[in-house]
Parts: sequence; structure tokens; C-alpha cells
Amino acid sequence: MRLPHRTVQTPVFMPVGTLGTVKAVPQDVLETLGAEIILGNTYHLYLRPGHEAVRRMGGLHKFISWPRAMLTDSGGFQVFSLSQLRKVSDEGVRFRSHLDGSSHFFTPEHSMDVQIALGADIAMAFDECTEYPADRNRAEESLRLTMAWARRSLDHFRAHRDEVVWRDNLGVPQVPRTWGPGNESPAQSLFGIVQGGTYNDLRRESAERLVEMDFDGYAIGGLSVGEPRELTMETIAEVLPLLPADKPRYLMGVGYPDEIEQYARMGVDMMDCVLPTRAARHGLLFTSEGRINIKGKRYAEDQSPPDPACNCMVCRRYSRAYLRHLMHSGEALSATLNTIHNLAYYLGIMERVRKSLQTGG
Ligand SMILES: [Zn+2]
Repeated sequence: MRLPHRTVQTPVFMPVGTLGTVKAVPQDVLETLGAEIILGNTYHLYLRPGHEAVRRMGGLHKFISWPRAMLTDSGGFQVFSLSQLRKVSDEGVRFRSHLDGSSHFFTPEHSMDVQIALGADIAMAFDECTEYPADRNRAEESLRLTMAWARRSLDHFRAHRDEVVWRDNLGVPQVPRTWGPGNESPAQSLFGIVQGGTYNDLRRESAERLVEMDFDGYAIGGLSVGEPRELTMETIAEVLPLLPADKPRYLMGVGYPDEIEQYARMGVDMMDCVLPTRAARHGLLFTSEGRINIKGKRYAEDQSPPDPACNCMVCRRYSRAYLRHLMHSGEALSATLNTIHNLAYYLGIMERVRKSLQTGG
């Protein structure tokens, strides 16, 4: 996937950097771990420090000193999950900030303006994430809104994408220009988001209409929101073949290690999830021997590495006993080391899948 700041190997896992930071992990360590693209959350960055401030500082890449690729979500998911007193209309969503209660109004056009100001390599269309369970009427109504907003997002984005701050100067010093012949004019991309709840016909309709609109890539949204896993699988299997194989296909907000492997093998190109980072801060480590809770008493004097099969900078150097001690003592290093290992584990899965796809395995 050729992006302005990076040519990204797919399938790829994208660590979530909510507020311009993948919590507890410095950017140079993310690079060492092999993270090629990270996420930023539009809702959070819009509220703090503010998208105009980020633009004035040269865009998100420059502000956070991340030379590789980035993707911003549309802000829709957080507006619906975090903010208070939402009022949804065809025009957009009025909501109150979860920080200070101030009132804000997000429309598809405004979400595009904010994302162009942030200047990630990939922006997302403004959508409504249909909750689970949602009855047929609710899912239809939600999809109607998402499709109208997709059209408006795309029109506004196409008219303004050239305003991105790194258009002439990538915004981060010494960024290697990784695009090549036939791709001389790197621009921000916009992805459409397939919704439709758990109704296969609505999902199909959503996918077909988005493909007609001709986005730069397509995401499957509204999954991993509490539905049973078989239903997640079924929906992915239904939607994937409808999305063009020559454009990125992004499954939003999943999942456990075995799930991301499975979905990557089904043909998903991109995934993101807070699980490896959030779980790490709670002491949950994903390892080749399954999940371990490092707080457990059994690790008090366990001098083996967190994951004996892992070659990450944490597993090469530290013991389970030490990680447990850091966690019990409330040391800041605890979150850092746990997160580094979990991200290495997730990124390692994708690397394995890429290798086995290359060799036809
Ligand atoms: Zn490790």
C-alpha cells in the first residue's frame, strides 16, 4: 500500500495512538518494533490540542514526530461512544465534550476539514457505527444516514484534499519519498465505511453503493461491538468479496490474536485494535503460550521471559517476575514494557501471515 509517508506491507496491524501517542511507547520504539502505520483519533485530537493547532504545527506527523504512515478515524465512533447528550440529525451530530461539557457540532464536512488539518495519510468517511443489537428499522435508518454522509464526506474531501499541510513538504524532516513511477502525486486518501449491522442484505447494499462512489479504500465498520464471533465472521465473509481487491480493505476495531490472523488470511489488509495496548496496561500479556496475567502470584519469582518464543526487546531482557513487580509497584515502566511486548506479538502475527502468503502457505 503506497502512502505518502510510507509504503506499507499488508496485511498490517495498526497500533492505536489515540491522542497522538500509542500509550506508554515512544515513537522510536514503535519504529524498532516495525510499526508502519498508526492511528490517531479525530474526536480526541479535535478537542485537545485542537486540529487548527495541529495544522499550525505542520500536521500530526510533524507534531508527534512520526515519519511513517498514519490513519485518522472520522470521530464518529467516539462521538457516539464517549460524548454526552448527542443529538443526531441528517445534518450531523451535536454533542457535548466528555472533557468539559462544551457543545460541538460534527458534520461529514467538518470531520473532513478536521482530518485534512490533522493530515494523516488516510482519512475516514464520517459514519454512524450501528450498535448491536439493532433491529431492522434501526439498522436501515442508520445505514441511510451513513450512506448520505459517505457521499458528503467524499465530495467535501475531493474539493479540499489539496489543502493538506504536507502537500509540498511532507512535514517531517528526512522522510524518504517511498512512492514511485505512476504515483508521483501523493495525496491524502479517503476510505468509505461499510455498515448495515448484522443484516447481510444491508451490508451488501452498503458495500455496493460505496464502491460505486469510488473511495480510495474500504473499511468494514460496526463489528466487534458485542455480537457473537460467528456473526462477525459471517459478515466479513459476506462483505469482503464485494470490495475491490486492488484497493485496501480495512476491518475496524478487531481483535484477539487468533482473530486478526484469521481475518488477514480471509483477505483483510488492515486492522486496528486497542486490545494489545489497553490489555497491557492491565497486566494482560498475549504470548505463544496463551494469555497470561502478569499480576498472578505464580510469577512472583518466575525468571523466564514473558514469552519464551518472543524475540522482542522486552522478552530478550526482562523476566516475568520483574514485570509483575513493576505492575504491583505501580511503576510507569510497567505499562511501557507490557505494551511493547504485546505490540511485538501482534506485529509478529502479521509478519508471519505476510510471509506465509508470499510463499503460498
Ligand atoms: Zn516479547
